[in-house]
Amino acid sequence: MTETTSTAAAQDTLGRPAPGQRHVIAALFVDFGGNGRPPRARYECVPCNYASPIATGADAVTTFVATAADEHRTTCINYQEAS
Ligand SMILES: [Zn+2]
Repeated sequence: MTETTSTAAAQDTLGRPAPGQRHVIAALFVDFGGNGRPPRARYECVPCNYASPIATGADAVTTFVATAADEHRTTCINYQEAS
């Protein structure tokens, strides 16, 4: 008797579009690396057309993830208008 196991391959990890909210569209991209590639991260803010330099390496990525949004917020025209 043969028993086959099926694994659920579908993953719902992608973000869904926001339902018509007025919101600053900024995104933190993190690539965890692997296979000899170092982890990398970058930050983009769509309304002010900002793209950060890319942080490379585990320590740099950790720091970057913790600070990038706050750091950009101090210069982001959108946050300044909202405050
Ligand atoms: Zn911005």
